[in-house]
Amino acid sequence: MHVSKAPRQGFHVEQEDSTLTNGQGKFVPSEKVMQLRQKIMKFMKDHIYPKEDELYKHAQSTSRWTIHPEEENLKALAKEEGLWNLFIPLDSAARARKLLLEDQSHVSAGSSNDLLLGAGLTNLEYGYLCEIMGRSVWAPQIFNCGAPDTGNMEVLLRYGTKEQQKQWLVPLLEGKIRSGFAMTEPQVASSDATNIECAVSRQGDFYVINGRKWWTSGAMDPRCKILILMGKTDFSAPRHKQQSMILVDINTPGVQIKRPLLVFGFDDAPHGHAEITFDNVRVPVTNILLGEGRGFEIAQVSRTVLILLSIISNLYFRCHIYVALQGRLGPGRLHHCMRLIGAAERGMNMMVERALSRTAFGKKIAQHGSFQSDLAKCRIELEQTRLLVLEAADQLDRHGNKKARGILAMAKVAAPNMALKVLDMAIQVHGAAGVSSDTALSHLWATARTLRLADGPDEVHLGTIAKLELQRARL
Ligand SMILES: Cc1cc2nc3c(=O)[nH]c(=O)nc-3n(C[C@H](O)[C@H](O)[C@H](O)COP(=O)(O)OP(=O)(O)OC[C@H]3O[C@@H](n4cnc5c(N)ncnc54)[C@H](O)[C@@H]3O)c2cc1C
Repeated sequence: MHVSKAPRQGFHVEQEDSTLTNGQGKFVPSEKVMQLRQKIMKFMKDHIYPKEDELYKHAQSTSRWTIHPEEENLKALAKEEGLWNLFIPLDSAARARKLLLEDQSHVSAGSSNDLLLGAGLTNLEYGYLCEIMGRSVWAPQIFNCGAPDTGNMEVLLRYGTKEQQKQWLVPLLEGKIRSGFAMTEPQVASSDATNIECAVSRQGDFYVINGRKWWTSGAMDPRCKILILMGKTDFSAPRHKQQSMILVDINTPGVQIKRPLLVFGFDDAPHGHAEITFDNVRVPVTNILLGEGRGFEIAQVSRTVLILLSIISNLYFRCHIYVALQGRLGPGRLHHCMRLIGAAERGMNMMVERALSRTAFGKKIAQHGSFQSDLAKCRIELEQTRLLVLEAADQLDRHGNKKARGILAMAKVAAPNMALKVLDMAIQVHGAAGVSSDTALSHLWATARTLRLADGPDEVHLGTIAKLELQRARL
């Protein structure tokens, strides 16, 4: 049977950035950022939107767990255009630059150091770019800015030893391999990271890992070579000193990918979300990140503050442990929010195009009053959330992860909920086509829905916001 459908709709808007550039202000991007933004928009228009159908078709086929060759071609093109690793914050780049300048031997021919370490942007500046990438589920990885790689690269940039960086960070920066973050376990409530049961026991020069993880995003990808695993090195230590993060080569004997998990029927191939068992997996002791029992430190939570908080309130302690840990670091979590702004913009754009082109009951959908009211409300929520996300990025730049945790939590709750509302409205305007896979909407919606859970359920972030608010009132 021949099935024909209209090609996926890209993103059409005239003079999109006209209000961003005029005058001065906190949220007026620099000339450099505007140029990068225009370049990314053009790249999306020329190379990503037109390929979405093909990439989607491949991801539905029997070859779904292989990489479509076009993806690697597009990565090479993005690199060539300097649209590569733009997520790397200034301070992290400085540490890695030192390493790369010291010894060039591990960098592949053709990869210049400058190119590998991004464009020297702040988180706020990256916000204007990441948003554009978020308009397509296929785009972030093309620019080497996809999850969970950005969060994992951040960890290696900040906490990796020279050897760990050479072995794993450099190929990640080059886009030659991908990575996963294995924390969540099926048998325990993993929103409370202290529940994690995976055992990491030292035996001579090795750690032996035994446990079961699930929802390890990216682990199905044939390019995924390294996992950052969260496990317990000492079950008898104080609760926040039991956990460690350790690097696990995915090809180590005993690592078994059991199955890909589905999100409302989407398996997100070729990236995927895997259930994995670790059965007597032996990794060298040098694979530990920062040291035994220092998993929470990697999340940049001050130990003194944690101890103090644990005395003040057990729940408070648990919330903060989780929030910091689950996101590894603030930026990775915020990148999700930035991308969600982009997903919502795509929804708005598609909604408007559809409403202007479809006639129901004698007039265009766009002329119906109820549509106009819903559209306006969506725009208000989108703009509110964009400002919140940019403000969170700015505070992260100026005050760091710990001090910005309140506004980061606000952004993490607001962004997926807003995107879900806008995308739901876009689906509604598309009628039955909206719930099909013929448009980008259903996949964008499914992805947005997972982000009310992944990187911390809403309730945990709400707990953080409320506790900070109550604490402020007490002082
Ligand atoms: C698509 C997708 C990708 C993911 N990728 C990864 C990944 O790469 N690596 C990884 O390790 N994990 C990943 N996860 C897992 C995700 O981070 C967890 O699902 C999340 O942390 C919640 O843990 P849980 O599923 O065990 O839910 P639980 O901890 O069992 O929580 C269930 C529910 O309990 C409620 N709850 C929890 N805490 C509180 C509280 N303090 N107050 C009130 N209510 C509360 C909330 O409603 C919550 O949703 C992913 C999940 C999805 C869906």
